[in-house]
Formats: sequence, C-alpha cells, structure tokens
Amino acid sequence: MKLEARAVLDWKEGLLGGGWAIEVSGSGITGVERCSGAASSNLVVSPGLVQGHVHLCQTLFRGMAEGLPLLPWLETRIWPLEAAHTPDSLAASVVLSLRELLLSGCTGLLDMGSVRHSSVTVDLLRRSGMRALTGNSLMDLGPGWIASDIAWLREEARRVRDACGGLTGFLYAPRFALSCSESVWEWMASDAAGRPRSTHAAETAAEMEAAGMVRGNVRFLEERGFLGQGAVLAHCVHLLPGEGGLLASSGTSVVHCPWTNLRLGSGIADIPALDAAGVSVLLGSDGAACNNGLDPASDARLAMALSAVTGGPGRVASSRWFRSLTQGAAEALGWKDVGRVAPGFQADLAVLEPTSLEWDQLDMAADPLRFVLELPWPERVRVVMVAGVELLRDGEFPTLPALPASVPEERTGLEKRARRLRSGD
Ligand SMILES: [Zn+2]
Repeated sequence: MKLEARAVLDWKEGLLGGGWAIEVSGSGITGVERCSGAASSNLVVSPGLVQGHVHLCQTLFRGMAEGLPLLPWLETRIWPLEAAHTPDSLAASVVLSLRELLLSGCTGLLDMGSVRHSSVTVDLLRRSGMRALTGNSLMDLGPGWIASDIAWLREEARRVRDACGGLTGFLYAPRFALSCSESVWEWMASDAAGRPRSTHAAETAAEMEAAGMVRGNVRFLEERGFLGQGAVLAHCVHLLPGEGGLLASSGTSVVHCPWTNLRLGSGIADIPALDAAGVSVLLGSDGAACNNGLDPASDARLAMALSAVTGGPGRVASSRWFRSLTQGAAEALGWKDVGRVAPGFQADLAVLEPTSLEWDQLDMAADPLRFVLELPWPERVRVVMVAGVELLRDGEFPTLPALPASVPEERTGLEKRARRLRSGD
C-alpha cells in the first residue's frame, strides 16, 4: 500500500513538505521517499497519537458530573456510575470512546478500566485493532458497592490478563492511594514490577492529606516499590521537592492531563520543571466526564499554553510535546518502533487534511509543528491505520462493531442504578 501526501510530521524534523510517498507493507513502513507529484495534495501524514491516560468506561458519563472537586466528584458521581455499568452499557461506552479516539488521530492508548466487566473492554479493543494497554481498576478500599476484596481483584486481574493478546496488553491499575490497602501495594511490588502499571498520583492536595502522604505521593509509591520502567503516573500536580528527581532517576513516566486538572480545580502540573529534570512526560485526556473531549491534540494545545505560564513561552518546544504524543509515549508504554513515519517503524499513522486556508497560513508559520497540533484534528483526520490496518477511512470504522445499545437508554439506566447505589437501596 502506498500513501501520498504533501507533508510528513516528525517530532525530530518538524513538518517536512514538498511531497512524500510512504510505502506500507504488512504491519510496517518500508519506505519514505520524496514524491514531487504529491506536493499539490492537501494531506499530511502523522504518526498516530497515543493517549497516555484515558478511562474508556467513562465516556458514557460525559456531561453528567460537573462542578465538584476530585473526591466528591468520584464518590458521588463517577464511582456510582462506574459501579452501575452492565456489560452492555460498558460496551457502548467503549465503542463511543474508540470512535472518538480514532477520529482524533489516535492509534494507541493506556486505559484504566473500572473494577468490573473489564473483559468487555479487552474484547472490543482486540476487535478494534488499536494498540492498547488496559486493566481492571484495583480498589479494595472504598464504598462496598464498588470496592472488592483483594482475592477477587486478583482473580479478575488474571481473567483480564488472560483475555489480552495481539495489540492489547495487560496493565496493572491500582486506582490511587486512597482506594488501595497495603496488601494491594505488596501485590504490585511482587507481580507488577517491570511490567506496565499505572495509577493516579499527586492529583489534589485533599487526596494527599486524606491519605496522610506528608512525604509526598511519589515517595509513597517509591517506598512501596511501584516506581521504575513501565510505571506511568497520571497527574503529578502536587509534587514535593525532590520528587521530580525521583521520577527521572527511576525511569517513571508522568501523564499530564491538563483539562482534568483545570476542570476539577486541582491545579497545574509544572511540566517545564519535570521536563528539565529529564522526566518522560505523556499527555492524556483522562475521562470524557472531566474533559468533555478525547482529543490529544486539544490536550496538547492547552498544555502548550499552560507551560508558557509555568515555565515561560517556548520553554517546552512543540517538538517535545509532539514527541510526548508519539514516540515518547510509545516508549513509555513499551511499544518498540512506534511513533515515527520512517522505514522500520510500525505503520501506526494518521492522515490529516488541513484546509486550503490553513495550508496558506501553515506555509508562513513560525512553528509549523505547533500550528498543526493546534488544528481541530477531529475535523481534519481522514484515515487512521494501526500496524498497516485501516481502522478509520472517511468517517467509517471498518473494524469497530456497531453500538450494542441505545446511548440515551443506557445513560438513563446508568443514572437510575447509580442513584440506587448511592442511596443504599
Ligand atoms: Zn484518570
């Protein structure tokens, strides 16, 4: 298969114009050659974007949880809604999520699931053909209608891990310090070390106070053996002195989720400082209920603006952000040869079509990579492929099943069941 485009995007080289032909054979890219005949097309070939932190189970809750800080938001809205999921409602949420992610140019993702029914998510991810890590959320502390004892959590993790395969890998996903007993962290230290694992960390001051983490959430995790290669921490807004260095020296990655942190009033992560310390930083949309989008380019747009406030304009170059969305994220998630449009790399690609006016502006842009990242990707993405297989073409999703249920009916049912859980009926 051959793709022809006016330009290719690359975190190292920026926007390379003048016409290109990209040869795809099997799952990989076998050639990237100059092709002057393609210079008049309006297409750009980009490495597919990677979501560093998303909750596929929460997309059905979009717009249903607003105006609360993290802990009451979780306890009164998100956890009851997650606990109210049936396999059908979860499948509807996952299919909606995958459509939206593909339309946004995503080819890879890290998903933190809910406590139950996670095999539904694995099945849909495998059928979709996206590159993914997913795992059941581990909670042995918290309300009885969502938390489970550790023996059941271990059994469920084994079922979910056994269901994974192909491009879908298993992720250990302890939810956060407040929802996990020491037994969970001991289990993580023995089974999860060196494997893909992710948790929320240092998201709000209230959570850290409630968990008594006076030495910091990163030190809390270090003391329990959770840091290191393969560990991915979402948020890291409230770090104590020295914790950035711990993240860097241990090879732990951080996922910046700027929309969530602003919408829940949690704060602004100091990404310029983490970048300067040598920490691997990814970007994530988190859940649709605390972002209202699953579009990594829009997350990058916000992140670039916020980092101009925290570190100064231009302090974190657009190439760093683009690396965070592509090869940098792939490396953090353990995916080799993913994230660049170059021979030898996997054919995980997104093809965009900027308008003629945008091309006129792009030709004179001071920072073309940033300009492209700031485009409305969900309106510009035409084709997405993963390992050489097309998952999106012109608004059609050839690998995704149809929605298994009516979205309005599932949302109404979820809300009713969640209300009953909260009231203890
Ligand atoms: Zn999250």
